[in-house]
Amino acid sequence: MPRPGITAMIPCYNEAACVEQAYREIRAELLQYDDVEILFVDDGSTDGTLEAIKSFAAEDPLVKYISFARNFGLEAAFSAGFKYASKPWTVQFDADLQSPPEEMHRLVRKALEGYDVVFAVRENRQDPWYRRLGTWGHQMIARRWLGIEIPQGASVFRIARTCVARKVVDSRLSTPYFSATAPLLGARYTTLPTSHRPRLAGEGKWNLRKLAGHAIELFVGFSFRPLIWLYALAATMLAVGVLLLELFWVGFAGHDALATAGLATSLITLLVVVVVARYLVRVMRVQAIGMPRYQIREANIVVRADEALYGQETPYLTADIWEDVR
Ligand code: UDP
Ligand code: MG
Repeated sequence: MPRPGITAMIPCYNEAACVEQAYREIRAELLQYDDVEILFVDDGSTDGTLEAIKSFAAEDPLVKYISFARNFGLEAAFSAGFKYASKPWTVQFDADLQSPPEEMHRLVRKALEGYDVVFAVRENRQDPWYRRLGTWGHQMIARRWLGIEIPQGASVFRIARTCVARKVVDSRLSTPYFSATAPLLGARYTTLPTSHRPRLAGEGKWNLRKLAGHAIELFVGFSFRPLIWLYALAATMLAVGVLLLELFWVGFAGHDALATAGLATSLITLLVVVVVARYLVRVMRVQAIGMPRYQIREANIVVRADEALYGQETPYLTADIWEDVR
């Protein structure tokens, strides 16, 4: 099998309990290839994750890292990861080792059959039932009802041609919803069933609010069908209202029917306002697209000055900056 150059990208947010084992296991698998690097993206951890990453970097030249100025979220973390990965292929892992490192070889082999992106689909997903139901439900709504092309069951464990992944995260959409953007750009993609592990230690970072927000981002970011349906509903209500009014005047409908229609109309109006407002939020996000999605406080690689909080091209260490200030 050809052995392509690979970046192992690991977004980390407060993963002090996992990051060392993740580093060791991922490194062991990665060393089966010749041209590799391990890129940690510390998403503003406050629990010693960054210190651990720096200790690996001090000993191991394969370790590169970027550390955000605060927690910007997983999308920002993998966006930075794909942007600063320097090898032709990038595999995205989870720091809690839910994506088994030994499965990366199957992803690599599949990609080399001629794909730009291969998404792992978790067999026997080791997450609570409501997470599994949530993923299935929102992907089903997106695909069936909203006509959004998204690989069924795709997880964030994936291999991507780095140049294509960079296009995906740089695309001028409001959200880097990777698995919906890659098909939109025409990337060749497929899915591959892989095993899945329970979280190694620590806690998952998703709550109901974040998960719902993520699903809504997908719906309004990639489809206008919700608006079309609501317009159809509003038009129907208008017709029903006019008809009822006529019937009321000629004495065939009573006050109860009118009151019910009135209430239904105001509820639909409320719904329309809420949905339209959500699309406006999306427009505002698109306007903010010129702004970097994250700010980097420290790194051991060169990063763009506009993405560095202290405005300089790095590599630099925060300590040097404070020396300047003093
Ligand atoms: N993560 C991150 N920023 C966040 C939340 C999560 O970089 O704001 C990382 C996290 O450290 C882990 C990966 O994203 O490496 C997946 O997160 P988690 O395990 O909490 O998600 P789940 O497996 O429950 O979907
Ligand atoms: Mg996890």
